[in-house]
Amino acid sequence: MARYHDAVCKLCRREGEKLFLKGARCLTDKCSVERRRFAPGQHGQSMRRKISAYGLQLREKQKIRRQYGLLETQFHNYFEKADAKAGITGENLVQFLECRLDNLVYRLGFGTSRKQARQLIRHRHILVDGKTVDIPSYQVRPNQVIKVRDKSKNLDLVHAALKIGRGEEIPWLRLNKAALEGELLAVPKRSEIPLTANEQLVVELYSK
Ligand code: SF4
Repeated sequence: MARYHDAVCKLCRREGEKLFLKGARCLTDKCSVERRRFAPGQHGQSMRRKISAYGLQLREKQKIRRQYGLLETQFHNYFEKADAKAGITGENLVQFLECRLDNLVYRLGFGTSRKQARQLIRHRHILVDGKTVDIPSYQVRPNQVIKVRDKSKNLDLVHAALKIGRGEEIPWLRLNKAALEGELLAVPKRSEIPLTANEQLVVELYSK
């Protein structure tokens, strides 16, 4: 599947905030947003254009899409599913994204970034309810148990990630660090999801 392969720090600098795409480096003073607080590119330092309403909506959509590491079409498909479901479209959208397996592996702290979590899943290190799942977009349901496979329990990258992960602080997840196992307790409410973005602007953008 197509993927974004260019430097990810540029994406954070474009949005003007940390999107935490690079794992441990994002928590150090090597972070590019900390060191170069201007947009990437030749005119990044000089451009100070007033942003239109459309521009704001577009930036918000890009910010969410990039944090979850999705391509345009995948993100739009989630929007359509969210729109078709009863309830608030923006909240549905964020809930769908949040219940992706790669996101939950990241939130539990088994990977330092969603990209690393996706790699663990693709390489068949992750079990859901005792079965190997190698599809990063798998939608996890409440009470399903996500576990690092026994054979993979000594992976350095998992233990390094757990040291900086915050899985224990997320109320809708249960994490057992010793067993390298976690559970989605419930589909989180929007207010419980640690995502700083205004998904309503995405709804307005796609509703035009
Ligand atoms: Fe973004 Fe992390 Fe790069 Fe900082 S280090 S710019 S937060 S990806």
